[in-house]
Amino acid sequence: MDSIKTIALVAHDNRKQDLIQWAEFNYKTLLRHKLVSTGTTGKLVEAAIKDKLGVQGEEFSILKLKSGPLGGDQQLGALICEGKVDLVIFLWDPMQPQPHDVDVKALLRIAVLYNVPMACNRAAADFMISSPLLDQPYEPVIKDYSAYMGRFGV
Ligand code: PGA
Repeated sequence: MDSIKTIALVAHDNRKQDLIQWAEFNYKTLLRHKLVSTGTTGKLVEAAIKDKLGVQGEEFSILKLKSGPLGGDQQLGALICEGKVDLVIFLWDPMQPQPHDVDVKALLRIAVLYNVPMACNRAAADFMISSPLLDQPYEPVIKDYSAYMGRFGV
C-alpha cells in the first residue's frame, strides 16, 4: 500500500447524510487520497466536496461505480480482489433490509478476506481517517490461501 491510499466510500440511503457530513468534515484529508464510490454516494459526496472547494473544486472528481443495487457493490468487491482498494468506509443501514442484501454481504466478506480495513460506522471512520498509517506505506498481511487453491491437487 502506497502512502496515497485508494479509499472507497459507500453509504446506504439512510446513512448518506452521515457520510456526507463526515466527508465534509474530513475533506482536506480525503483530497490527499484517491476516492472511489458507488454511484449515488459518489455523486453526493463529490458535490459536497466540490461545494467546500468552491472554484478550486472544478477538477475534483470521485471514481463512480454503478449504483449499489445495480451492481456497484460487486464492482467494488472486484476492485478489492484485484488489490486496488486500500480502505473502505461502508455506512450500511442496520435498520432497513436492502434489495441487494446478498451484494452487501459479499462486499463485507471480500473486504475481510483480503484484509482491507473497513469502517462501518462514523466512529470507526473517524479512527481510520485519523490513523498515522493513512499517510504511510503499509503492507497488510494477506492470509495464504494456496492450500485452498491446491485442495484438488491442481
Ligand atoms: P449507492 O449505493 O451509492 O448507489 O446508493 C450504495 C449501496 O447501496 O451499496
